Amino acid sequence: MSEEKSLNFIEEIIEADLAGGQCKSILTRFPPEPNGYLHIGHAKSICLNFGLAIKYGGKTNLRFDDTNPAKEETEYVDSIKEDVKWLGFNWSNELFASDYFDQIYSFAVALIKKGLAYVDDSTADQIAALKGSPTEAGKNSPFRDRSIDENLSLFAAMKSGTYKDGEKVLRVKIDMAANNMHMRDPIIYRIKHAQHHRTGDQWCIYPMYDFAHGQSDSIENITHSICTLEFIPHRELYEWFIKQLEIFPSKQYEFARLNMTYTVMSKRKLLQLVTEGHVQSWDDPRMPTISGMRRRGYTPESIRNFCERIGIAKRENLIDVSLLEFCVREHLNLIAKRVMAVLDPVKLVITNYPEGQTEELMSENGPDESYGNRKIQFSKELWIEREDFMEEAAKKWFRLAPGALVRLKSAYIIQCNDFVKDADGNISEIHATYIPESKSGADTSEIKVKGTIHWLSIPHALQSEIRLYDRLFNAENPSQEEGDFKEYINADSLQIITKAYVEPSLSNSEVGNHFQFIRKGYFCLDKQSTKEKLVFNRTVSLKDAWAKEVKK
Ligand code: ATP
Ligand code: MG
Repeated sequence: MSEEKSLNFIEEIIEADLAGGQCKSILTRFPPEPNGYLHIGHAKSICLNFGLAIKYGGKTNLRFDDTNPAKEETEYVDSIKEDVKWLGFNWSNELFASDYFDQIYSFAVALIKKGLAYVDDSTADQIAALKGSPTEAGKNSPFRDRSIDENLSLFAAMKSGTYKDGEKVLRVKIDMAANNMHMRDPIIYRIKHAQHHRTGDQWCIYPMYDFAHGQSDSIENITHSICTLEFIPHRELYEWFIKQLEIFPSKQYEFARLNMTYTVMSKRKLLQLVTEGHVQSWDDPRMPTISGMRRRGYTPESIRNFCERIGIAKRENLIDVSLLEFCVREHLNLIAKRVMAVLDPVKLVITNYPEGQTEELMSENGPDESYGNRKIQFSKELWIEREDFMEEAAKKWFRLAPGALVRLKSAYIIQCNDFVKDADGNISEIHATYIPESKSGADTSEIKVKGTIHWLSIPHALQSEIRLYDRLFNAENPSQEEGDFKEYINADSLQIITKAYVEPSLSNSEVGNHFQFIRKGYFCLDKQSTKEKLVFNRTVSLKDAWAKEVKK
């Protein structure tokens, strides 16, 4: 466990900055826009920003980047806080870019006063037409040479609500021939008459991303502002503002965003899945959202471990979702209580067991003795899995078949004698005899069997609903496929079993408990579960094809 890990490139920068005295301690931030629920990609950014601060004794701010009133809601703010906390991180300050609106406004006024910003009356199309292309310089706007006084009064009028949406914008005056298109007089303020989730109708002009994000970093004295690769071309502008405004010199660093197979990871797309009813909610257990994963039974430890394992890259890549599932399995193997559940029940009658008798047996709760034991009830009539029986045993079939011997987990060895079929030809009842001397833990029978199957006592078992989930998409990279990503939705991503059975010990389980239904996978209680009807989610199957690969 204590293997030495080499530093990632951001850690190298931080260590050099601390050693060289560029900063005394580090301050990072996680800056979500509250326009949706957080997803596993955000988890990566959270683990990185908070993880660095923890490692280097610094701090991390949680800053809501709420400069777009149309899409932002308090519901999202609350869910984001819950998710960050659940992942196991504590922020130093809870902040909102909207708290800086006055200050950002005065930054804009300062730029106007320096002759570095102007009000432009052009339409969005006219501005785009003069922008040029990467190979061709843009042209100056006809409004570029307005006087400072005129710009100051027009900008004040924009603020006071004189104009309609889109009638005017404020742009900075840099260079319409700059190689970097982001430096060609970018827009820094636009008019938007909308209710803001925090400032209400106090403002009708809002700063653009580039004039809010970096400014917020500087206001908070963020030392290392870490974002994803698509912001590389924005860095020049980020630094230009710092220089012109003479504000705290935060530094921007970029890493590759997390992309994962069989998943989409943009809030816009995830919102579509919710609003168009492809999933039930943001926390639908099939969603790659943190709340969906939590509801599905993923643990914060497994998500943090996943983020740690994939590391920080400087180039885009696509991570196999099975690595995340491997991390989930690895953790649940350590913490999930072992219990028995039968998902596709068929009745097994122990013909030589006394009618009406119940026996208490002991079964292990975990992978070793340290997890303790619990009592389970055994009786004459049991549920077993339909798939554990074969009418005619195939080669190497070690489970139940006429004449075959098998062990009932934590109970007895039984031998199958015959079976009964219903009118449709389905097996409705299996008959077996048990060997009294073969009781688990006190077996004197000297009979060796190769197969062990799980079971439940029919009079004691609780009928439950079990929800099995599969990948939400059939395509490995749905966003990259031709056509709309929704064409690649897996129609069979949810299977609901209404007549499954679980041990009576699960009657008082709670949301947040993790179970291994032995031989069936890892499960958790769903929030829709009630005392009358227990509902379980399958978190992940037991199969771990990935394990062999990583152990090599
Ligand atoms: P989306 O495209 O999903 O809407 P976003 O970048 O617009 O994501 P923000 O709320 O702005 O979402 O993101 C907050 C932080 O999380 C940003 O610093 C952003 O870079 C980071 N982030 C978002 N998606 C990913 C991802 N897939 N991998 C790593 N970091 C991400
Ligand atoms: Mg964003």
